[in-house]
Amino acid sequence: MNATETYDDFCLRVRELSDLGHAAGMLGWDQETQMPKRGAQGRASALGTLAGLHHEKLVDPQFADLVESLADSPLAGDLEINVRETRRAQLRAMRLPKQLVVELSRTQSLAHEAWVEARIADDFAQFRPWLEKLLSLQLRVADAVGYEGSVYNAFLDEFEPYARVEQMGPLLEQLRKRLVPLVTAILDRQRGPDPSFQCDWDIAKQEAFGRQVIGDLGFDWDAGRLDVSVHPFCGGVGPDDVRLTTRYQADQLTSSLFGMIHETGHGLYEQGLPPEQAGLPVCESISLGIHESQSRMLENMVGRSRAFWQYQLPRMQEFFPDQLRNVDVEQMYREVNRVEASMIRVEADEVTYNLHILLRFELEQALVAGEIAVADLPGIWNERMESYLGIHPANDAEGVLQDIHWSSGLIGYFPTYTLGNLYAAQLFVQARHDVGDLEAQFARGETAPLLSWLREKVHSRGRRVTATQLVEEVTGRPLGIDALMNYLEGKFGELYDL
Ligand code: ZN
Repeated sequence: MNATETYDDFCLRVRELSDLGHAAGMLGWDQETQMPKRGAQGRASALGTLAGLHHEKLVDPQFADLVESLADSPLAGDLEINVRETRRAQLRAMRLPKQLVVELSRTQSLAHEAWVEARIADDFAQFRPWLEKLLSLQLRVADAVGYEGSVYNAFLDEFEPYARVEQMGPLLEQLRKRLVPLVTAILDRQRGPDPSFQCDWDIAKQEAFGRQVIGDLGFDWDAGRLDVSVHPFCGGVGPDDVRLTTRYQADQLTSSLFGMIHETGHGLYEQGLPPEQAGLPVCESISLGIHESQSRMLENMVGRSRAFWQYQLPRMQEFFPDQLRNVDVEQMYREVNRVEASMIRVEADEVTYNLHILLRFELEQALVAGEIAVADLPGIWNERMESYLGIHPANDAEGVLQDIHWSSGLIGYFPTYTLGNLYAAQLFVQARHDVGDLEAQFARGETAPLLSWLREKVHSRGRRVTATQLVEEVTGRPLGIDALMNYLEGKFGELYDL
């Protein structure tokens, strides 16, 4: 076979793997949005079979030889990246002993059950042995797949490829040092919720308005849809079929809306990936952090801006004429940017959110480095909540047991949320520099110029660059904390008269 035939053969096999992922993705989406309760067992079996087939095909010795021969040959551009990324996934899969994979997967489901019960019983001790077991299994995984520098890099690499805790750690430390005083100053001037928004908000109208906003933001309804799920997410199978989900609460006007805007940010990224590379690694997102930067930018820097509401409030008033008759833009802007010290990460505002993440990131690093024991977690968690946010969890259910991540063995996932905020802020500064007065555009309902900029600079590049390269190439600077902190200090300094 000559080099072109070898590469064509390679693409066929990678696209087959992608098709298996497509089937699993659709079954997973259906499970969250449509499947009746009794379908669970059959679905678990079908997904297990697909995962097994995927693994078999990925580590198939003939395919491994093919990938290795391509990796050794001179390739450039998309070919090189497709081979490099496939090789990464293949090596990882080949290095993991099957017995370890099976044990980890079984422990994950049992640990998840134990976590659900421990959270209901508000008893960390019930979950502790499971977390200890998961941690020791994950450390064995790290040893098997290998890593450079800190063992934490082995975990991080799965969610934020090529990121290194040696670079990211000090950056997030700087962020914490500048963020804590801002949060303290805001909380001194804390105000309660505006009573104008405490009414019943018809869910059908919330949905209709939300769909209108999603469309306004540029989401292509011919290449995606919106459904309801318990935990909102953006799924799908590539640029032409993106699945957004949300959930509605009748006593909350904007909670579902901001969830929809957030997922739309993820969805626009997916719809903008390079279609000519569909089914190949180049048509995938760069990292969870970059993915999150797209959702956070849309949710916070666009959706929580004054200009956005100048355009959208009159439209929202058409759906809720009685309740919103006397609400003005300023009032809406203040309400959607209210800062509160809260126990629960997923309910946190955009200022305190990062402190919730930094706390988890610090504990994870200490855990994998063996500096603290699992048994120490609740105590240290509560101490840090006190020192970062001035509040003390009343129990473990609203403290160390609140997140699903650790119960599924996910270590190294949390920092991607804050990286997303850092990327978003730095990219947004550059967008304003390149595109002009974004706020004046938002006030006229024009988000298309920002979207075209994101399409060109981020989405259409797919996985052709790493996160670090993307940020440096687009903004001319390495990732830093200034853009995010300047944005937060400016916006909330004005809102809270600091
Ligand atoms: Zn997200």
